Formats: sequence, C-alpha cells, structure tokens
Amino acid sequence: MKNTSMTETIIQQELSKCVKCGSCMSVCPIYRQTGREEMVARGKLVLIKHLLEKDGSEQEKLSDFYRQAVDYCLLCHSCEENCSKNVKITEIIKAARREIIAETGLHPVKKFLFAILPGKSGRLKTLVKVGSWLRLLAWRSLPAGSGLRRRLPMPLIDDQTVIPNLPKKNLDDQLRKRPVCRQTRRPAPGKRPRLLYFPGCATRYLTPEVGMQTIMVLEKLGFETVVPESWACCGAVTEAAGDQKSADQLQEKNLRVMAAADDDLTLVVTGCATCGHTLKSYPLPEGIKVMDISEFLYEQREKLSKLLQGKTIKKKITYHDPCHLRKGQGITAQPRWLLRLIAGDNFVELRHPERCCGSGGSFGVTHKSLSRQILAEKIADLKDSKAQIIASGCPGCLIQINEGIQNADLNVTTDHPITLLAQLLSSREG
Ligand code: SF4
Ligand code: SF4
Repeated sequence: MKNTSMTETIIQQELSKCVKCGSCMSVCPIYRQTGREEMVARGKLVLIKHLLEKDGSEQEKLSDFYRQAVDYCLLCHSCEENCSKNVKITEIIKAARREIIAETGLHPVKKFLFAILPGKSGRLKTLVKVGSWLRLLAWRSLPAGSGLRRRLPMPLIDDQTVIPNLPKKNLDDQLRKRPVCRQTRRPAPGKRPRLLYFPGCATRYLTPEVGMQTIMVLEKLGFETVVPESWACCGAVTEAAGDQKSADQLQEKNLRVMAAADDDLTLVVTGCATCGHTLKSYPLPEGIKVMDISEFLYEQREKLSKLLQGKTIKKKITYHDPCHLRKGQGITAQPRWLLRLIAGDNFVELRHPERCCGSGGSFGVTHKSLSRQILAEKIADLKDSKAQIIASGCPGCLIQINEGIQNADLNVTTDHPITLLAQLLSSREG
C-alpha cells in the first residue's frame, strides 16, 4: 500500500482516535462468524496502522493479510454505531479499498457489474430483459411467485441462489403509459404538489411493482410523482468497492437531474435504504432535500391514518432494520410506526432486528458462504418470531432474506412496507 496524501488525511486522522476498547467486537457480523481479530474494526485498524509504519519487505509480508481484512467488511456501520470515539471505520475501509484497486484493479465480477449500471452503459436493463425472455429455459419458478432458481449452470449463481422474478417490463416501461410520472413541466396553479421519486436500480429493474405501489400511495396522499428516466445508479455499490471514479460520475449525473428539474421539485423520495443513504451524502443543490419513504409517510401520518380508516393486515408481521436506514440514516421509529399502523398488534419485533442480513451489496455475490452464515442468524430469529411476513425498506435485504427463507423452507413472505400499505389501501375490507 502506498502512503498517499488521501491515506494520510483520512486513515491517519481516524486511526489516532481508536482507543482499542473492543466495543466494536460484539456487533461485527464478520467477527461473529470468523472469530478473527483482523476481521473486526479494531483489528483492521491495528493492521492498517502497522502497514503504514512499515516499509519494503515487511509491508509485502503483511499485504495479503491486509487486503483480506479490508475486503471482508460489509460496510454495515454496526461498529461505528457502537464506537464511543466516533471512528469513521467505513470511511477508512473505503479509502483502503480505493488504494488497493488503484494498484490491482477491480475484481472482474465487479468490473462487469459496474459497467452495466444505469448511468454507465445501462446494459443492466437489457440483461434483465434477456433473463426474463429466457425464463422458461434458464429459470425454475418457486412456489407462490417467491422467486427463481437457475436450471442451468451460471456464473455467480449456485443451486441455493434465489433471484426475483425478472419482470418483462421494468419500471420505466410501465411508466411510459403514465406520462404524468415522467413530465418535469411545472403544474398549473392549483394542481397537486409534486415530488421526485428515485426508485434505485433494484426497484427499477427487478421489482418494478414496488415502484408502482409507491407512486399509487403517493397519489392517494395527493402528490404527483415525477420519475426521470435519466436517473443513474446512486453509486453506492461502486463507492463501496473503491471505484471512486465511477461513484463520482454517477453522482454527477444524478445531481444534474436534480438541478435540471423544475423549481417546485425540491423533494426526492426513495424507498431504497442504500440509495437514500448515498443520495443524502451528495453535495445536493440548494433547496433539494432527500427523504426515505418512511420519513415522508410519517410526515403525512394524519392523512395516511384517515385513508386507512382503521384497516389492518391480519397477519403477523416483523421488521428487519436495513443497515443503511438504521445505522446510516438513523431511521428506526418511522418504519415501525408505519408497520404498527398497517398491522396493529400483529406487529412483532425480531430478537435482533438491527443485525445485518449479510447482503452488503456485492459482498453477497463475491463472499457467498460467509454472507449465508450471517443470513442464517437472521433466519433463525425470523423462525422464532413466528411472523408470516418480514418487511424491510431495502430491496437488497429483501432479496437476501427471501433466499434464506426459501432455502430454510419457511412459509414467510418478504415485502417492502410500501407493498403492504398499497395492498391495504386497495382492499375493501379491513
Ligand atoms: S469501538 Fe471504536 S475505539 Fe473501540 S476498538 Fe472499536 S474502533 Fe476502536
Ligand atoms: S462495517 Fe460491519 S462488517 Fe465492517 S468492520 Fe464494521 S461491523 Fe464489521
């Protein structure tokens, strides 16, 4: 690793804050599974410090150990939430990853994935469409539409992998029939207030029904939703991998979309915890605000309660806190308020709702086995809760937890809270 100015300014400054108290150990999902000191924040920091202080052959000797420690991190923020010295551990890991890929380049899988994102080549859209056309040949449907398993050998997808149903029409296709959702023209006086909706890549291409349900709920609350087709990926996955150049390009594209919107479009709402966390970290244009959908609905609570007229879902529902919502944005009360409104006394907490599910963006693809060990803890908690539905405001967590449910053969469905709300608002009976 080279001693660059970035390393000195970010890593050195943060390293000096760590008092080696070990409070991060009890909450790190990687440490819980591996029991290896270099996998937890304290150990990673000691290793990075050693490396910075050594040179030549000693650096070489530590190098592989170091790369592995930096690679084995979900960026879940659990250690930061538990660190009384406020060490920005995830920033150090991201800085170290930037250093590593500057020397070695990106992992080929990540290189491929990042090149097809919206805002880069955009071929992700085509890839999902081809996957849906080949559905009968390449995929096997799981019962009750709970996902797909491969029929044929495929790279990165094994027999236990469960992916969403690969829709024929993505969110952009579906919205082309609803021009009001795509226009950026200022509304005539007296028309409904408008907001920008940022669906994120997973909702846009894998679960567009969640995007349509969000738009429906917002319409019922009296808002017109604008969904620009020019949104790029938020860049979280590229930033996490250390590909800062791509993250900066994607951020710039999204900032351009926000800056070009009419001046009544000052609020960006998203239902993806990771996208919201990333968008809130942008240098946003003056007057633009980003909100998670649960924050926005909480602000609309009086209107929403009236719309629901006391209707509730008669199934036991539990909730998984996405790391990027709870630890990244400090949002815990609003989704719970929403689920209590939806389910009443049928809402139950998991034993450890705050624990990471092991998805971690591309971590679940490149470190499948460890990711599944971490997921197993969540599935055990879910089983104990006896819930029939598990809700979460992160598409990545929902995909990961659904895979765990299918592999454990549990009769539980995964849903975004907005899906449950939309179902209730459309139902006649409470
Ligand atoms: S909790 Fe913070 S201060 Fe304590 S060992 Fe971990 S990183 Fe260092
Ligand atoms: S961010 Fe999560 S996985 Fe990474 S060191 Fe901290 S607790 Fe462990």
